[in-house]
Amino acid sequence: MTDAPALVDVPDPLEVGDDVDDRPVLVVDFGAQYAQLIARRVRECRVFSELLPHDTPVDELRARDPRALILSGGPASVYEPGAPALDPALLELGVPVLGICYGMQALTLALGGEVARTGRAEFGKTALETAEGSLLFSDTPADQTCWMSHNDSVVRPPDGFRITGSSPGAPVAAMEAAERGIHAVQFHPEVAHTPYGADVLKNFLFGVVDAPATWTATQVIEEQVARIRAQVGSARVLCALSGGVDSAVAALLVHRAVGDQLTCVFVDHGFLRAGEAEQVVETFAGHFEVPLVHVQAQERFLSLLEGVTDPEEKRRRIGETFIRVFEEEAVKLDGIRYLVQGTLYSDVIESGSRTAAKIKSHHNVGGLPEDIDFELVEPLRLLFKDEVRRVGIELGLPERMVWRQPFPGPGLAIRIIGEVTEERLEAVRHADAVLQDEIRKAGWYRKLWQSFAVLPAVRSVGVMGDSRTYAYPVVIRAVTSEDAMTADWARLPYDLLEVISSRIINEVPNVNRVVLDISSKPPGTIEWE
Ligand code: GLN
Repeated sequence: MTDAPALVDVPDPLEVGDDVDDRPVLVVDFGAQYAQLIARRVRECRVFSELLPHDTPVDELRARDPRALILSGGPASVYEPGAPALDPALLELGVPVLGICYGMQALTLALGGEVARTGRAEFGKTALETAEGSLLFSDTPADQTCWMSHNDSVVRPPDGFRITGSSPGAPVAAMEAAERGIHAVQFHPEVAHTPYGADVLKNFLFGVVDAPATWTATQVIEEQVARIRAQVGSARVLCALSGGVDSAVAALLVHRAVGDQLTCVFVDHGFLRAGEAEQVVETFAGHFEVPLVHVQAQERFLSLLEGVTDPEEKRRRIGETFIRVFEEEAVKLDGIRYLVQGTLYSDVIESGSRTAAKIKSHHNVGGLPEDIDFELVEPLRLLFKDEVRRVGIELGLPERMVWRQPFPGPGLAIRIIGEVTEERLEAVRHADAVLQDEIRKAGWYRKLWQSFAVLPAVRSVGVMGDSRTYAYPVVIRAVTSEDAMTADWARLPYDLLEVISSRIINEVPNVNRVVLDISSKPPGTIEWE
């Protein structure tokens, strides 16, 4: 697993591709908050799933050869002008269908049933009574709870449908035309608050659809390796490594596919955390034997920031120079046609692109140049973050890289308020190393979205060894978050904070105080600059 991949004896790429059964379960997105979650839940059952907008033409859907369709929820009310309608032709594809919430309502309308705003909205935890003999509710209790979020309800199911579930506010909370493979639920099986939701989805995937559970990290690797080989042939490929999990996994996939045709460039701007650069070099050049250009640009970046205190100006200078340095290296590696990008599936969905790759500079590692003429290789385009991690583990990437907390491109430079000097950089790096060490030891690392040290520009008076000190404080920032859009300060135990505080003050020169940031986002941001 950890050896450099052999380049001989590999089957023809297209043959490998043919073997892989990746007919998707397509989630038709009606604008739901949970559409991505539906696809993720399906994939957690090891069945491949993709999301498509509700206005995707039926021919396009058919061309994807879906194994089944799941119609998502959505904010609209089915009779309101402009509400997204379900094309009845979708129901003629001959594959099983599961309608969820708005999906159920749209399905009802398309098949001649009736939906109404009954005045009996249900939000949150709701009792659900299920009928006997429904495949969808196999092995779940007749009386269960579910999680609802609706104003409208189905008041008359289409002809040929049997009511299989009801709640206090929605007498038709579930229905099916089992012989046609059409099932619908008013509640949300995809959310964790629906205790038997996962069972309902499994019953649909393996009972109704009979899907094979083959979407595993191993299969993803096989499939991507085949695709990469088919795409790049014998051409050379370039990848910028940042130390983060996405670029690391993308690079390893490409390396497994085309071996030494890949060259990785790692621009070390000097603002990385303790041991990080060494780990990138050790892992890639050492362990995996990936051809690696390690650009040591620490001094260049440090002198660039001389006298700069404005956070935006810091970010701008670092970003721009990062691109310059990368370009200089790319020019030296003359004759490379392909560039690896760690674009994730969530980025693809957000950009709303349905077809070909759209280059989004902000997804590039540290913001790579847009005007370099490369063709993109994006082996993570189909993967959610948790899947990238699983693939990383399978490829033998060290735990520390797989589970690395998010880290900003400009690195420690924006965790030093005011001017970045070598001495201050050392202080924040050292404090951060102590913090990470204690957080890991206490088993908190993975529970936190991010945890780090900040070095403000103020100083305060202290007393150490009977003498007066006038030194910097270190701020500890530790937050929990789902997606970085909102965050809360983590309730770290006092005992842990005490150890962190005394170690930082004892070990880091020029620091005489440790304070804790207890702001949420909003109104604070996670980083300080
Ligand atoms: N907007 C629809 C309703 O309120 C569907 C809601 C949903 O899909 N969550 O009933």
